[in-house]
This record gives sequence, structure tokens and C-alpha cells, in this order.
Amino acid sequence: MTYRFEFNPYQRQFRHPLTTHHGIWKVREGIILRLMDEAGRIGWGEIAPLPWFGSETLEQARQFCQQFPSQFTSTDIFSIPAELPACQFGFESAWDVLVARDGRKSRIETENTSQSLSHASLKYSYLLPTGEAALTAWQQGWQQGDRTFKWKIGVTSMESELRWFDQLVQALPPSAQLRLDANGGLTQNQAEQWLQVADQAGIVEFMEQPLPPEEFDVIKAMQDQYKTAIALDESVATLNQLKTCYQQGWRGIFVIKAAIAGSPTQLRQFCQAHDIDVVFSSVFERAIARIAVLNLAVELSHPHRAVGFGVNHWFVED
Ligand code: MG
Repeated sequence: MTYRFEFNPYQRQFRHPLTTHHGIWKVREGIILRLMDEAGRIGWGEIAPLPWFGSETLEQARQFCQQFPSQFTSTDIFSIPAELPACQFGFESAWDVLVARDGRKSRIETENTSQSLSHASLKYSYLLPTGEAALTAWQQGWQQGDRTFKWKIGVTSMESELRWFDQLVQALPPSAQLRLDANGGLTQNQAEQWLQVADQAGIVEFMEQPLPPEEFDVIKAMQDQYKTAIALDESVATLNQLKTCYQQGWRGIFVIKAAIAGSPTQLRQFCQAHDIDVVFSSVFERAIARIAVLNLAVELSHPHRAVGFGVNHWFVED
């Protein structure tokens, strides 16, 4: 079977800029892929790079699409280099849709790929705005049924953030859970303070990436010292990094941004072969990649953890 494809760049504006330790983000840019097989069937894919997280840049993805053969086989798709993880994901998931339609996959996978009803079993983690705005913004998520909330820390002064955290913990109903995401922006001393506070609050599900990836050993040691669980995110941005952290003994939570992690086939194989605690998370991709990632989440994510996809309120429309 040979395939042809077209690609089109897109831009998606945030309703309000998203502030994290990595900086301010205003527009999500990516590429939509339209694969066609010999019978004229269409499979959509999406390349949604996140270069400051370790993926290729949009420009590198665009250049790759330009030089990719106009007619190709599945071997070409599975030969995309690991240095282009968002391209690997986009092409492979588009191909996956075509193969599923072709009836070569199991019935359940076909159902997952062709529509998103099976995503109804997933719970979502509602992303709060950074800073003080979180103190009222959680109510919108609560009203739509979300019970897990995520708040970015390590953005402004620790003193302010600790004060808002205290107020947020008071405001949230007892059945809510809170994830704290530092995006690698804390010092060891700050991380320890946060973990102590989190242990006392009793509402924190986990703290995400307290220190930068270079400080893996320190994070690993902290994991044993506090009740609050720790999740790696920036440390495990791609499948190769995820494998490395696993081999180095990480047994805490793995946040997987599948849209930039690389080959979904290899990711599935790794998750199925190892009993790891996985939280699938968004890179603010559009619906095409989102559905592909949520299909993986239905298959592979930890059943009691919400997926990090409560982000639709960050955009005007898709
Ligand atoms: Mg994170």
C-alpha cells in the first residue's frame, strides 16, 4: 500500500496567554496532515511541536513535511527519526486511523479511532490560571464536573504563591484534588518547602517536575522523603527520555505528552510491557491529536488518575 499526503499549518490563539515557568504562550501553532491511501480513504494527523519541552521546532517539522516523499509506504512512516517526535506522532497516528478503517485492527481499536465516545470513561484535570486568578477560576471547572485541578507554581514569588495556595486549599471542596506543576522552576530548598506544605494540606495529588531534568537524582531522593507523590514531566518529554528515567529507577508518576513523545506504537509497547503510573497530558493540541492521545489514554493511563486535558476553556474555539 502506498500513501500520499497534504499538510497545512494552523494557528490557535489562547483566550488568555498561558504563563508557566517556561514563559508566556499566546498562540499554539502546528501542522495538520491529510493522508490518503490508494482507495482514496483519508486519515487525519496533527503535528503539534513543543520545542522548549524538547521536541522539534515548528520550522523543523515544516521542513520535514516538505522533503517527505510525495508517495510513501508505512516503512517510510516508521523510519521518521526520533529527533522529530511530534512528526513521528502526527504521521503514525494518521496512518493508524487509515489502518483501523481498513479493518486490520481489532474492533475496539477501530471504535476508539473512529469516534470519541469511549473517552466518556476518562476524568479530566482542569487547568487553572496561574497566580491569584486560580482562587475563583476553579468554580467553572467544578460546575462542569471536574474534581481534579492543576495549578502552575514557580512563576512568581514563592511567598505569594504559598499564600494563594493556602487560600485555594481553603476554598476547594474536600473532594477536590490539586496538582501542583512547577515546570522544573524550583530550587531544591523551595521544592522541599512546597512538599512539606503539600503533605500538610492533604489535597495535593502530586507535584509535577519540581526541579529541572538535570536534577533527576535529587528529585528521586525527594520522592522517598514526602507523602506527596512526585510526577516527572519535562524529564520524560520523549519516549527515549521516559525509558532512561525508568531504567534509572524512577517508579513515581510519569506525565506523558504523547503528541510530542514520538511513535505511539512504541509508546504503547513500552507502557504495556512495564507497569508504570501514567498520566496523559495535553500540549494544547487541536482535536485531531487530542482524540489520538485520548485513545491511547483509554488504553494505557492509570484508571484512577484524571487526564491532563481539561484545557478547552483556554481557547475560544477549536
Ligand atoms: Mg507539567
